[in-house]
Amino acid sequence: ARGELQRPRFWDPLLQALFDRGLAHERAYVEHLRQAGHHVVEIDGPAGIDEARVDKTIEAMVAGVGVIVQGAFLRDGWAGRTDILKRVEVASALGAWSYEVIDTKLARRTKGATILQLCLYSELLSAVQARMPEYMHVVTPGTGFRPESYRTASFGAYYRQARRGFEHFLRRESGESTYPEPNEHCPVCVWRTPCAARRRADDHLCLVAGITKVQIGELRRREIETTGALAVTPLPLTWKPERGAAHSYERIREQARIQVEGRAAGKTLYEALAVLPDLGLARLPTPSAGDVFLDLEGDPFVDEGGLEYLFGYVFDEEDGTQKYCGEWALSREPEKHAFETFVDFAISRWAQYPDFHIYHYAPYEPSALKRLMGRYVTREDEIDRMLRASLFVDLYQVVRQGIRASIERYSIKELESLFSFTRATPLEDASQAMATVQVLLEVGDPQTITDALKDTVAGYNRDDCLSARALRDWLEGVRSSLISKGALLERPIPPTGEVSEVRGEWQARIAALIARLTLDVPADARERTGDQHARWILAYILDWHRREEKTAWWEYFRLAALADEDLFEERAGIAGLTFVGAVGGTAKAPVHRYRFPPQEIELRGGEPLHQRGGDKFGKVERISLDDRVIDVKKRTDTAMIHPEAVFSHNVIGTGVLAEALARIGDYVADHGIAGDGPYQAARHLLTRAPPPLGAEPIRLPKETTLGAATRIASKLQGGVLPIQGPPGTGKTHIGARMICALVKSGAKVGITATSHKVIRNLLNAVLEAAREAGQLMRCAQKVDGDEEDLPQLTFVESNDELFDALRGNYDVAAGTAWLWARPEAQDAVDVLFVDEAAQMSLANVLGVSHAAKNLVLLGDPRQLDQPTQGSHPEGTSVSALDYVLDGQLTIGAEQGLFLENTWRLHPDICAFTSELFYESRLEAVPGLERQEVRSRGRVRGTGLRYVPVDHQGNQNSSPEEAEVIRELVAGILGSSTFWIDRHGTEHAIGLNDILIIAPYNAQVFEL
Ligand code: SF4
Repeated sequence: ARGELQRPRFWDPLLQALFDRGLAHERAYVEHLRQAGHHVVEIDGPAGIDEARVDKTIEAMVAGVGVIVQGAFLRDGWAGRTDILKRVEVASALGAWSYEVIDTKLARRTKGATILQLCLYSELLSAVQARMPEYMHVVTPGTGFRPESYRTASFGAYYRQARRGFEHFLRRESGESTYPEPNEHCPVCVWRTPCAARRRADDHLCLVAGITKVQIGELRRREIETTGALAVTPLPLTWKPERGAAHSYERIREQARIQVEGRAAGKTLYEALAVLPDLGLARLPTPSAGDVFLDLEGDPFVDEGGLEYLFGYVFDEEDGTQKYCGEWALSREPEKHAFETFVDFAISRWAQYPDFHIYHYAPYEPSALKRLMGRYVTREDEIDRMLRASLFVDLYQVVRQGIRASIERYSIKELESLFSFTRATPLEDASQAMATVQVLLEVGDPQTITDALKDTVAGYNRDDCLSARALRDWLEGVRSSLISKGALLERPIPPTGEVSEVRGEWQARIAALIARLTLDVPADARERTGDQHARWILAYILDWHRREEKTAWWEYFRLAALADEDLFEERAGIAGLTFVGAVGGTAKAPVHRYRFPPQEIELRGGEPLHQRGGDKFGKVERISLDDRVIDVKKRTDTAMIHPEAVFSHNVIGTGVLAEALARIGDYVADHGIAGDGPYQAARHLLTRAPPPLGAEPIRLPKETTLGAATRIASKLQGGVLPIQGPPGTGKTHIGARMICALVKSGAKVGITATSHKVIRNLLNAVLEAAREAGQLMRCAQKVDGDEEDLPQLTFVESNDELFDALRGNYDVAAGTAWLWARPEAQDAVDVLFVDEAAQMSLANVLGVSHAAKNLVLLGDPRQLDQPTQGSHPEGTSVSALDYVLDGQLTIGAEQGLFLENTWRLHPDICAFTSELFYESRLEAVPGLERQEVRSRGRVRGTGLRYVPVDHQGNQNSSPEEAEVIRELVAGILGSSTFWIDRHGTEHAIGLNDILIIAPYNAQVFEL
């Protein structure tokens, strides 16, 4: 900006080609608008912004021209030229019209930077027309010039924040560090060559392979600033790191040492790491003549979900000749074909060579295959068997756990000097060709990919496959040499990948059902009718539970293969355990206490634990994240074992839910999706039918949401009533009163949710509402353990007891989806309430839907999302409420109830939340504007505050932020701070009135 450095100039043919194509796309769109009859005015001049062009733009806007091309704006140091300004009939200072911005972009996926650019243009535009445009648009190729529209308000807060941050940075006095710290933009930055040279000249710590920013920060605080200095840091460390485990610093110290030794020797050095069972070189299976070396080329930015555009693999023919297969897939159909071809090849190879494996480098390949399996709903069991049989061997893991090399990145290319591999295709040519291929795929122009480009990329891909083979052979050599020196290195024991007969029968049944349900359904979603789409969703959701279960098992195998230090990074893992002593149990099955260092953990108690490798270890009896101790109920065979790390894994059988879906599928295949009869709620849900209330409106004019909810509760005639309740709008309060109204009218009511805790919460609210109304209420809840009954609430442990209670005089019964999906639950209640329906999968809600004619879905998809693990066909991996909303931010007046009054948020906070997430429909109830914090200190007044904290490299905890929070809390408590409630009453603020929300447990530890 100050002109002190000359911007490096590259003539990049790729960038030039992109520029030309971008211009052509813009011209074509302008022509399209002209053909459509719009009056087009072009603000001439190829680039640059001056007052004359700004004046011309304003002139055209004032005249109300339909389309303005290359409009120019200047204001407060910001400038912009908009591709297109399009007139909309929304009044503004200009008259009965205003303008919205349209940008033409080549990339099919709109990126964050584009949105920020559009926000800036919209803001510049709003200054002229005195109205912020409601929408901003992007037009990409191959869409028939249909713009993609974005609500300006949805991004306004983020944009303002980003703009202020940038302006703040630009105002900084010189002397602030502008050192070229490496970041994700570097690989495509024009300054990359001088920046890399500077870091190398400084022997920057980022040159150490595998080092993190947190580690660099810690080392700098200890005045270790260079790779060379780190290499000679005394071991064991004489200091305890503030961040992270000591052994991770020892590891990077050793990495720095070998890199410095390699530099001195002028060649790549390596050394073997200590041999550990099941890790590193012990993960290499016995080589087979059938082995395959796989490498996929993919581009995550093509369409939605990316494209695997080249499937390459090397193997030996029966006569021993090496063969390379490279199948191109430049669009969806060929991608499916290439995927199926490879899987079929692998399965037949397996039959021919039962000891074969598929080698790859880094986890990309198996992940991509799982993704494709989910995308095309094909070869699912083949992939499942291959994964369960551990056919895939990740050579990157073998390298990282088995050796240390004097390289700056553990990429296969950097390793090649160790095994003298020579590439046939120069890397420079290959990366240029790959970049071009990917750009052409991203802009939807695959037909222009030339054979020469394909040959270069395929040559590179072939080299990668051959390199993986050479690496495997070299690692075998390292392994043999270690064994010859006395190391004990076993081969992994292969698990079997056989499919049980029961699963085989299930698959056949589901496949037949899918075929019946989708007989007349077009493959292209845009060509389906509503009913056809509902049947498609039903067909492809039938196997949802099995996919989730399979994914859970794959996760088990992944976790079982991790080293102790890797489990430190896993939420399901807990590492750095130190045995404290026995705290209960028996001699044979003691309860042992372990201490652990701060880390991100998702254990809450009751989970089964496994040791590295997968052997069972025990069960979590109790865990305290505050004290960082875990009590484990041991097994007889683990009573004497104290591992450094363990992981939790549990697969809960979902057969009952899957069966429930299959019953709906059978019915719909025989009787169609419409009409009266069984499974009406499920069919209404699938077709997104509005709540069936006869002539009754969902909401009367001036009626409160509570009034509407209790009025329509007993008027439901078989279907689904969704209720969207943003924070503080009394969703549970309203749900509880609806249940009371239903019981009063003689109805039986069921309650379900994703956890016993959520269910209990609604039950408690029901009991409270009944007490307030003086209404007798008999409730039963199915729970897992022994619990003492409460007044009007009976706990039962078996399904039969619960259904007996319902058949008797109980009014309300509650349990998880596993209870309500049982065949005997069919029509057990009149209305089933699903609480937190935005976190319950559509599959599970369909699974329980037969329990009642009417479903009430309570929740809010704008808050927490439903967690899924598996890859599912498009549209089936959503929560029930998300499915109903179908991409809308809020539920429409004819679709259900939107609870628009928050009883919690001050209007200053509500305005932000409402604008961003609820289409400005959420409002604070009168009186909340009185809420306020009064203080002489820093925290006072109303609304949101943003406190920026400078820090780098933190992932799930930040001591810098924790310190600022400590200061804020101390400031509140130390400055006689009061808060005023909505009735105007003043209250003193104590520690218990302050809620601190952190996204990670590790940050809670910091706090
Ligand atoms: S190469 Fe990296 S560090 Fe250098 S200017 Fe570009 S983004 Fe910044």
